[in-house]
Amino acid sequence: MKRLLLASLIIITASAKAQQHAAAILQQLDQQRNHYEQMAVTIWKWAEPGYLEDKTTALMQDELAKAGFKIEKGIADIPTAFVASFGSGKPVIGILAEMDALPGLSQQPTPDRKPLEEGGYGHGCGHNLFGTGSIAAAIATKNWMAANNIKGTIRLYGTPAEEGAGGGKTYLVRAGVFDDVDAVLHWHPGDNNSASPSSSLAYKVALFRFKGQAAHAAAAPEKGRSALDGVEAMNFMVNLMREHVSQETRIHYVIKKGGLTSNIVPDFAEVEYTIRHPTVAGLNDIWDRLNKTADAAAMGTGTSVSHEVMTGLYNVLPNETLAKLVQKNLEKVGGVSYTAEETSFAEAIRKTVSATGLPSVGSAAEVKPYALNGLTSASTDVGDVSWVVPTAGLSTATWVPGIPAHSWQAVACDGMSIGFKGMMVAAKTIALSAADIFQHPEILPIASAELKKARGGESFQYKSLAGDRKAPLDYRK
Ligand SMILES: [Zn+2]
Repeated sequence: MKRLLLASLIIITASAKAQQHAAAILQQLDQQRNHYEQMAVTIWKWAEPGYLEDKTTALMQDELAKAGFKIEKGIADIPTAFVASFGSGKPVIGILAEMDALPGLSQQPTPDRKPLEEGGYGHGCGHNLFGTGSIAAAIATKNWMAANNIKGTIRLYGTPAEEGAGGGKTYLVRAGVFDDVDAVLHWHPGDNNSASPSSSLAYKVALFRFKGQAAHAAAAPEKGRSALDGVEAMNFMVNLMREHVSQETRIHYVIKKGGLTSNIVPDFAEVEYTIRHPTVAGLNDIWDRLNKTADAAAMGTGTSVSHEVMTGLYNVLPNETLAKLVQKNLEKVGGVSYTAEETSFAEAIRKTVSATGLPSVGSAAEVKPYALNGLTSASTDVGDVSWVVPTAGLSTATWVPGIPAHSWQAVACDGMSIGFKGMMVAAKTIALSAADIFQHPEILPIASAELKKARGGESFQYKSLAGDRKAPLDYRK
């Protein structure tokens, strides 16, 4: 299999015709750069919350419709989700486009903390660039297909609400909108350029609701049963459990409701848990143990407990066959180099980060060498997609090296030239990779065989970890 893959990569690289195709795609994207920067900055200013991306999704759909894509909106009963398609028949290549922003991170494109709107939303994960860059890639691929009579279908998936308990893609996967897709390409803003396959943590968010008996806390405590005691007993047991879970496990909680006043025994309390593990089996084990602590806490405190799963995500299954192809194209496109003005912005904003030992400013121009076995201690709903379709992605240096995701500094970079340059690196790499796959569809059965092996053979059946609940359309309201 490896030899076959190597052979196909050599063919892809060597053909002079392929070189011409690549040059045409790159030229087209360079010409459209200003247009896509405008689009990215418009979405950045709107900074809409998950499932409420009304203006953003309309702009994205409009852009694709004008370019000749057929739009299906409101897919999987999610008003802001859509699929834009061009072409017909096989192969079918999907490109993901995220669009939601984060609460509390509103920020101007400056290297010091200046909110645009106090407490407002900001694009701290760069999904304004993610969405726009993916659309740029899809349109460039479509134009190239039309000009060269290329067979197949290119699809852009507008995927809302990636952040927090949104989990938008799990509902899209559950609705079957990826069932006929042969390969999925995606990218994510970052502080470096890398296409190395890396996994993520499987993830589940749930609310545990305890019910007790209200009573006067001083005059009739024996008649009360505290729901908050239930929450506290559960948290205590979970904190003991931490010593007996694998190193990569993550468990976090917040008490969302703990009673109204201390002179009434609380009859209702609610705690939100997030659990993460590198595998779905490991996550399910932690989930079972978490439920036992909840039941035991209720039993011991004379309360009752119920839970609601808010979302659940698979870990990302890397696909080396596709990742190597993306790496080759990322190396061809190259990283992000700064003007003198951008360098001074970069140096100034790095001073606001508390950590030491940051990667050099110049590393934004480099492409990381291909490496295996990466695990990011975060989670993404791309995971669910990667279990049903061979999927590969990349990150590009939209953020100054050393700037973390979900920070005001990331918001600042996502709204200025450094972010836009990183976005165009991603758009070019994805368009070149899609064109490679259309010209060499023989890579697809190899990618598919790799996926089947990685998920443990033919018997795998996708089952959403969010269960049968509906998408939590109001989680940001
Ligand atoms: Zn993100």
